[in-house]
Amino acid sequence: MPDLRCTVQTCTHNQNYYCNLDSIVVGGNSAKKADETSCDSFEERKGGNSYSNAYSDMAGKEASAKSDVDCKATDCMYNKECQCHAGKISVEGGNACHCQETECATFKSGCA
Ligand code: SF4
Repeated sequence: MPDLRCTVQTCTHNQNYYCNLDSIVVGGNSAKKADETSCDSFEERKGGNSYSNAYSDMAGKEASAKSDVDCKATDCMYNKECQCHAGKISVEGGNACHCQETECATFKSGCA
């Protein structure tokens, strides 16, 4: 289970750059580079611009540094049987409104 850091502040699951899901799905089954992957678990933060509202909605749900990553990007060197085996990954997509605007920045092509 990798350490997961996520810069996608527009996602409802993001708390201080951590993800509050125990497990996320990374998409991009034909991805050859990082920007062809996406965090399919992304959900846009709703309810205006107030981050504090979003935090109170998630009371009791603490984000942790680790999440299971079910990853469809099978060309990535860290992918083994659709699970991520990197020690640490970074999901990026600062102002994303859709999961396609996010990416797993740690993706590394396994092809020489
Ligand atoms: S974009 Fe993905 S990794 Fe980031 S907080 Fe949302 S669900 Fe978690």
